[in-house]
Amino acid sequence: MIKVVKFGGSSLASAEQFKKVANIIHAEDSRRYVVPSAPGKRFSDDIKVTDMLYECYGLAAKGKDYQTSLKNIKDRYYGIINELGLDLSLEDEFKNIEAGFVGKSGRDYAASRGEYLNGIVLAKYLGFEFIDSAEVIFFDDYGNFDADRTNAVLSERLKNTEYAVIPGFYGSMPNDTVKTFSRGGSDITGSIVAKAVKADLYENWTDVSGMLVADPRIINNPKVISTITYKELRELSYMGATVLHEDAIFPVRKEGIAINIRNTNAPEDEGTMIVESTSKKPDYTITGIAGKRGFTAVSIEKDMMNAELGFGRKVLEEFEKNGISFEHMPSGIDTMSVFVNQEEFVKKEQEVLAGIHRNTHPDSIDIESDIALIAIVGRGMKSTRGTAGRIFSALAHAHVNVKMIDQGSSELNIIVGVEDADFEKAIEAIYDIFVVTRL
Ligand code: ASP
Repeated sequence: MIKVVKFGGSSLASAEQFKKVANIIHAEDSRRYVVPSAPGKRFSDDIKVTDMLYECYGLAAKGKDYQTSLKNIKDRYYGIINELGLDLSLEDEFKNIEAGFVGKSGRDYAASRGEYLNGIVLAKYLGFEFIDSAEVIFFDDYGNFDADRTNAVLSERLKNTEYAVIPGFYGSMPNDTVKTFSRGGSDITGSIVAKAVKADLYENWTDVSGMLVADPRIINNPKVISTITYKELRELSYMGATVLHEDAIFPVRKEGIAINIRNTNAPEDEGTMIVESTSKKPDYTITGIAGKRGFTAVSIEKDMMNAELGFGRKVLEEFEKNGISFEHMPSGIDTMSVFVNQEEFVKKEQEVLAGIHRNTHPDSIDIESDIALIAIVGRGMKSTRGTAGRIFSALAHAHVNVKMIDQGSSELNIIVGVEDADFEKAIEAIYDIFVVTRL
């Protein structure tokens, strides 16, 4: 059994957290490959080391005084090292980093040092080998992740390495400069390592006990999702539920490796299993609810629209020309509505409307803003009668007017559009009917 374990920034923010992490790793021999983030926040107003590094680099690269900023970063690491009682000096490392900053080695290089240094500290504390990700994770000339080269080199490198720490978030370019993934990218590194060693499980340790059925800012103490499929996760994260970097699922998904979201501060909790497919019935008919505010519906009306070949294409072309992607497109006989992101749309509104008028000669165009979209997602819906009925009766009882309905053909999700003002009330009503009263 091989497990790859990734620990997020809050799991490694202080010596106290390092101790919890070491206990978790040492509790199972199978936890062989460890991917750390940089030290994150210790309390809510704290600053992540990654952000401190960006700031320090910005000062140094502009020729401004960066000494205090650098000292604050050193203090974070030495605070951890001293409290853990480690015999480790990072002075040479910090000298190189300072030279890199002054020599303008780049923002990515700067940010990556957070994970790099944390990897060195954690490897020393665990007694594991440290492997610099710049030597095993690669990007191509265009800055895209080079999956083939990485997998070949990384799997070879780890073949005879029993226990190792491989820092998250970065790798190297063909010209040997350092490049990072986007923010939160250590999740991706964990997934890449899991694929390379053909892990049985990728454990992603964070500060929550898994993915929640609904947003805790809306629902008080929502239930944890025990098992979710990759497809369901995609639907929910697209609608704003975040627990994992979006790109982290791709390397493991292809290999059929499951991801287990776990809580460093409550290791006894089982967390959430993210799997390709499962015969496990969901705890409730729905797996999760997520939603976003701030959509605009552009509704176009024209007599005999249904008989006009290419009408929809001409309308969508105007959105495309202006760089606006659409979310949903419900239609009637002589009407079609295009749902778009409000913020993106307002910037190009007049161009889009003029274009639609010019190319399709509609009878009228109506615009309605401040719409929220809510996705009710669940593999359990396919085999259950009346899910949509229950959603709409719950919304009706809560006095929420439904503006749009869209059920994907996979029967994996139902999306409803409501007024922004009804957003929270709608989520509460749906959560209540499926999870609290379990109807
Ligand atoms: N430390 C990086 C960030 O703050 C990467 C990560 O934590 O995954 O985004």
